[in-house]
Amino acid sequence: MNDRFSKLGYVTNPLDRRADLRDQADALKKLRAQKDAGALVFAGDQSILKREGEALHGLFAPHDVSALGSVRATLFLGLHDERPIFAEEIEAEAAERLSTRDDLMVIDARSIAVQGLLPAPLIGPLAEAKALLHWHRKHQFCAACGAPSRVSSAGWKRVCDACTAEHFPRTDPVVIMLAKRLKRRCAAKLSKKRACAQAPCAISLRSLGPFPLR
Ligand SMILES: [Zn+2]
Repeated sequence: MNDRFSKLGYVTNPLDRRADLRDQADALKKLRAQKDAGALVFAGDQSILKREGEALHGLFAPHDVSALGSVRATLFLGLHDERPIFAEEIEAEAAERLSTRDDLMVIDARSIAVQGLLPAPLIGPLAEAKALLHWHRKHQFCAACGAPSRVSSAGWKRVCDACTAEHFPRTDPVVIMLAKRLKRRCAAKLSKKRACAQAPCAISLRSLGPFPLR
C-alpha cells in the first residue's frame, strides 16, 4: 500500500477474515487457545491498552482478559499472518477502574489512531472490532418479532430463536472521495457536461470495516 495512505487511520487492515471458520466452534476454540492468539479489549467504547515502560500494546492474550473484567462478548476478527486475532468486550463500568492502573491505558479508538499509539496494521482491526461490538450492543432484540437475539458466527451475525430470523451488521456508506481530476478518474464514463454537474464526489457502499486504498 502507498505509504501516504498507510498513515491514515483505519485504512490498513491486513486481516484474513476467514469467514469459513466462523461457524466452526472447535476450530475457534483451538485458535483462541493458541499461544500467539491476540485479543483487542474494549470496556464499552473504550479501548484497553497494555503499557510496558514507554511501549503500548493493543493485544492481550485471550486467557488474560477475564482478569480485566467480565467478558461479555468474544468476536473472531481473522488471522494476521496465521496469528488469530479476536475482540473481547468487558463491562463498560470497568473502564474507570482500569484507568487507575499504571500498567494499562484506557483510551478511545479515535485518539489511538490520531496519536499513532498502535502500529498501523492494528488500527484497522481496532476500528472493525469497535464497530462490530457497537452493533451488537444496539441490536440485541430481533427486528422482526422483538424477542432477544443472540450472537452467532463468531460475532458476525445475530440469530433470533423465536422466529429464526438472522440479522447482519448493516452496510454503511463509508467511502467518500473528492473527484479532483474528473476526466481521468471517477467521472471518466460521464459526458463532460454531466461530469461537471454531477460528480462532486463519489460514494461507495461496502460491508462493515476498514477498506484498502490502492
Ligand atoms: Zn425474531
